[in-house]
Amino acid sequence: LQIGEMAIRMMKKVSPLPVIAIFNSHYHGDHFLGNQAFVEAYGNQVPIYAHPYSLEQIKGIEGNTWRNLMERWTNQATAGTKVMPPTHTVKHGDVFNFGDVQIKVHHYGVAHTPGDICLEVVQDKVTYVGDIAMDGRIANIDDGSYVGTFKTYEELSKAAGEQLWIPGHGTPKKTLLKEYGEFMAGIYETCVKAVKEGLDPSTAKAMVLKDPRVKKYAKATKGFENNIGKYTSLAYLEAEKEAF
Ligand SMILES: [Zn+2]
Repeated sequence: LQIGEMAIRMMKKVSPLPVIAIFNSHYHGDHFLGNQAFVEAYGNQVPIYAHPYSLEQIKGIEGNTWRNLMERWTNQATAGTKVMPPTHTVKHGDVFNFGDVQIKVHHYGVAHTPGDICLEVVQDKVTYVGDIAMDGRIANIDDGSYVGTFKTYEELSKAAGEQLWIPGHGTPKKTLLKEYGEFMAGIYETCVKAVKEGLDPSTAKAMVLKDPRVKKYAKATKGFENNIGKYTSLAYLEAEKEAF
């Protein structure tokens, strides 16, 4: 709620126009708990769009789980936030025309989560990618997929062409997918190699830490030390699954 209110204050500095649609890129709390602020400011007629999977998750247990987690993580700074689930679903290929702005919805299967949507603002050559790529941070991939992320990057780049990619966290960059993709490949491809050679997960982790692609981004990546072990084991599990 509070972050949504802040976003609205910032948007008002840029444009006096009202918000006429809301898109939730996926079901993680930092990407939908602001819905309430927009509904309170612009009315509950404003449609909130999401992928069907994300809508289900937010309406289900995940909605309240994220609300409670966020309250704990922020020391109750987000107290009073209500879960306002999306009201409409979107699918890959949907196109929205808002005045002279066209927005295209992209979804290529599981990436950061099973229900990510990327939003291409056609006229501006700008695409919002949610958390499928991050800048200076390592993205949660608990119910995501490395292989799915690489596939999404490839398909999305092919469909949209050169774009200014806007991540949910970090700085927009034209090189975002290339850079984060390189970092992810350093983790995943190393695990594939380890699995092929019959090496155990801890050996795989040591190999990942030595990979030049991973090393290149490690220093500038917030939370690297704490998270790399977990994300390496997820990569290892996925590599094992793919090997069958
Ligand atoms: Zn996320």
